[in-house]
Amino acid sequence: AKFDEYFLMENEDVIHYVKEKTSFFNENSALLCDEIGDGNLNYVYRVVDQAGDKSVIVKQAGDTARISDAIKLSTNRIKIESDILILHGKLAKGHAPEVYLYDNVMNCCIMEDLSDHTILREALLQFETFPKLADHISTFMVQTLLPTTDVVMDHQEKKVNVKEYMNPELCDISEELVYTEPFNDYNQRNELFEPNKEWIVTEIYRDDVLRLEAAKLKFEFMNHAQALIHGDLHTGSLFVTKESTKVIDPEFGFYGPIGYDVGNIIANLTFALIHGDAYGKEPFVDWAENTIMEVVDLFNKKFTAFWDEHVTDEMAKETGFKEWYLDRVLSDSAGVAGLEMIRRIVGLAKVKDITSIEMEAERIRAERICLTLAKRFIKDRDTFRTGKDFITALKEVM
Ligand code: ADP
Ligand code: MG
Ligand code: MG
Ligand code: MG
Repeated sequence: AKFDEYFLMENEDVIHYVKEKTSFFNENSALLCDEIGDGNLNYVYRVVDQAGDKSVIVKQAGDTARISDAIKLSTNRIKIESDILILHGKLAKGHAPEVYLYDNVMNCCIMEDLSDHTILREALLQFETFPKLADHISTFMVQTLLPTTDVVMDHQEKKVNVKEYMNPELCDISEELVYTEPFNDYNQRNELFEPNKEWIVTEIYRDDVLRLEAAKLKFEFMNHAQALIHGDLHTGSLFVTKESTKVIDPEFGFYGPIGYDVGNIIANLTFALIHGDAYGKEPFVDWAENTIMEVVDLFNKKFTAFWDEHVTDEMAKETGFKEWYLDRVLSDSAGVAGLEMIRRIVGLAKVKDITSIEMEAERIRAERICLTLAKRFIKDRDTFRTGKDFITALKEVM
């Protein structure tokens, strides 16, 4: 058979592949295939029958990154992604694409086509609003994160999982790009927006207190196997409609701090807000502000309720322990939100929310607001507890 040895597929191969591996399409229907990937690492194909009434997505991992052959990556990441998507589908019903097939030879996965949804970042760049987003994403985080902690999960089973989801290469990418390079540019890959260069050198590279706190957070990321996190939960990993929110692309998943996911959501919603502000879109900014506030407050509320219903560990039931644990999650979330905001402005992987701001003065201002806020999030992370805490800090720097 043609697909018993790994190779990187072309459009035509993907059509044959889907026909051979699934009975999704009718035997004799003519299929069309496009490569629609826009990420840095993988290839994403959309296969549709000519009548246009059925379609699937095939995501294939290469043994190097899509953007650079110099970056070698284990193809195991697509197994991790498939397994986590299936788990998320069970834990947080309706918030993950259905996985039809995972193939450990071709290193690909066939999944539900979500083309009737829009990537959230793209929609937010158009100042679209999503009234149910905060409710959905807070539910998703609580329902996928808490069940994989020692608070709820069998401790021995969890330890086996920690090993299974070790994901060293993708963790290394985060450790470098999020937790190291933005503070010292030691790989000389940072790209600073020229008019902010000096400001960033002073405010980021030369802030010893900030760099120390970032170092602490780095070791928290590496050494705190708290829950099976998504690991790349930015607005480009969310597919939305007004009624629905689906989470894709969990290939960075591993047992890490819960606050890593929560912080990424907060940071990327903040980017959208600041982008809206740069273009004077007041109703959008108001919505974004409310959404950030609600994400935090609903997360707290649902976390507490889920804990009360599902806690299994006897010591975790001690009075005050839940509050202590949640405080720490919120502190991590604030810290990570700050790190994500710095790395997306200073580091290698930028976000469109900021780079697409055309007016120079507005871009200068947007970057400085984000970075000033980020520093507060990191240094004062223990003081962030409620949605209002986050929004008050934001308003003070705007
Ligand atoms: P990468 O890991 O390379 O970032 P993603 O999983 O984020 O890949 O997918 C890249 C792009 O492919 C997404 O932004 C989206 O446009 C498209 N895509 C991915 N999964 C689906 C899906 N299930 N349905 C429709 N489009 C998808
Ligand atoms: Mg992606
Ligand atoms: Mg994308
Ligand atoms: Mg990815």
